[in-house]
Amino acid sequence: RAKKQGRNNICYFSDALEEELIDRIEIEKILRRAIEKDLVEIHFQPQVNLKNSEVIAVEALARLKDADGHYIPPLKFIELAEELHLIDKLGEQIFHKACQELKSWEAQGISIKLCINVSAKQFAKNSFVDFALAQVELHQIRTSKIELEITETTLMEDFDSVKSTLHQLTEAGFSIAIDDFGTGYSSLSYLKFFNVNILKIDQTFVKDMLSDEQSTDIVQTIITLGKSLNLTIIAEGIETLAHEEKLIELDCSMGQGYLYSKPLSSENFVKYLQTTMRP
Ligand code: C2E
Ligand code: MG
Ligand code: MG
Ligand code: MG
Repeated sequence: RAKKQGRNNICYFSDALEEELIDRIEIEKILRRAIEKDLVEIHFQPQVNLKNSEVIAVEALARLKDADGHYIPPLKFIELAEELHLIDKLGEQIFHKACQELKSWEAQGISIKLCINVSAKQFAKNSFVDFALAQVELHQIRTSKIELEITETTLMEDFDSVKSTLHQLTEAGFSIAIDDFGTGYSSLSYLKFFNVNILKIDQTFVKDMLSDEQSTDIVQTIITLGKSLNLTIIAEGIETLAHEEKLIELDCSMGQGYLYSKPLSSENFVKYLQTTMRP
């Protein structure tokens, strides 16, 4: 029986590998074409004040369509773009498009903060600060309107250059958020060395918080220590009122998740704002 299972396993793994390889080749093609033709789409997910559901900011999330018009999850193409050294170009196109949308909202009288995800490789590039500054200049956007989301992994790269880049960006007026906080290897105390403004509690802790005491403790610890460092705390992945209630109880100030809205096209995001805004 073991032998049979073993053989099945081998078979299973090679099938899975083959599938993954086909997937990669297919996604690589889509990715290269999208970059060449500037086809990346951006969806937008609101970030709200938990106390009154007021929309404070919005996160830009990249979207790529396959040949059938289905969206490929960003987790699949962002990592691949990094591996293939395509992330710079892709990241620039995302940044540019997100700023264009912010501008179009401003023209409609909507004032909101825009959060843009920046991958570790993109951030580590010497030219990143200049690129970001050139973008706000080009679009005539105030830097205070832009928040850059980086991960703990990004922080763990070369200490001096990360510190210097963060210093330059925050001096220029950009805000910095640490995304997926709690999943990496950095410690809260490490944060005091960096110019960081916001912590985004990873959604896995929010998801498990109601059933698992350890997750609740982690959420509580991030909130308490984050506050002592004067950071704004955003909880990710809020799906239910029970999540929201618990987070308010733990004194978390902001949140993001399907409870408020899934990521939306720019047009639908504007509609969302219009239906949720109080007169
Ligand atoms: P992230 O930056 O942590 O973004 C939040 C992810 O959680 C998004 O997934 C969002 O759709 C999803 N989400 C939001 N609320 C909920 C919820 O209530 N429940 C659940 N289950 N999920 C929720 P998405 O758009 O698939 O993006 C996944 C990741 O891909 C992002 O995680 C980010 O790391 C990366 N990514 C997306 N767009 C970009 C980009 O433009 N540049 C870079 N470098 N990375 C990006
Ligand atoms: Mg993010
Ligand atoms: Mg996240
Ligand atoms: Mg994530």
